[in-house]
Amino acid sequence: MKLVRYGAPGAEKPGLIHADGSIRDLSAHLPDLSGAALHPDALARLAALDMDALRVVWGDPRLGPPVAGTGKFICIGLNYADHAAESGMDVPPEPVIFMKATSAICGPHDPIVIPRGSEKTDWEVELAVIIGKPAKYVTEAEAMSHVAGFAVTNDVSERAFQTERSGQWTKGKSCDNFGQIGPWLVTPDEVADPQDLGMWLTVNGDKMQDGSTRTMVYQVPFLIHYLSQFMTLHPGDVISTGTPPGVGMGMKPQRFLKAGDVVELGIDGLGQQRQDVIAD
Ligand code: ZN
Repeated sequence: MKLVRYGAPGAEKPGLIHADGSIRDLSAHLPDLSGAALHPDALARLAALDMDALRVVWGDPRLGPPVAGTGKFICIGLNYADHAAESGMDVPPEPVIFMKATSAICGPHDPIVIPRGSEKTDWEVELAVIIGKPAKYVTEAEAMSHVAGFAVTNDVSERAFQTERSGQWTKGKSCDNFGQIGPWLVTPDEVADPQDLGMWLTVNGDKMQDGSTRTMVYQVPFLIHYLSQFMTLHPGDVISTGTPPGVGMGMKPQRFLKAGDVVELGIDGLGQQRQDVIAD
């Protein structure tokens, strides 16, 4: 299934993408795509519904992030060997993890907002994993049974805030509208191999990133296992698994976003995002 949340920010309703391409409303079947509704058993019950009987959502509503109630937005740094190289860093001996404020989360086509004082706002297409049931001290073999689904994320990053302003990366990663997720939460049954997905990003139509999850260093089951040794992962938590090469910071000369730019990104089978870049 391709699950969505549609409507105005903060007032989204749950839905799914029907085989005919229409959005169908799921409000009668669950309050939101959060918490217990993300449990794999709950998703299996949704999949058994008569899809043709679900109400069609007419018009072209805004899509919100396809998951609600996210308590943690965990990112993996330097998780593609070739991206680590372009950043001038070594692949770390264990995953680098950092947190992005959940207030950065927005819909897949919501604008990228350049924060005040920014000169180095950058892009990162990433595969996101959305947790569906609590995970604590899980093995790699058990890990995927805790997944509700996958989505595209843009881990928008302000490089000066991230690396030139002291301390950890959080302040360069957490600005408002720095975390587009969607368009869909795609359930695992529709993703044959999450470690074999092409991924790309363009700015004003120019290809910037063109990679594959094949070159991910620490893969999804290991990341879930690893994170669950340090914290319980809860339904709705989002793990953004790192970006392939082609970020603006790694270019010579470096290139960063400016108001008026258009960013588009996608991952095979998980859909596409499109963002206008605006100044705050
Ligand atoms: Zn990232």
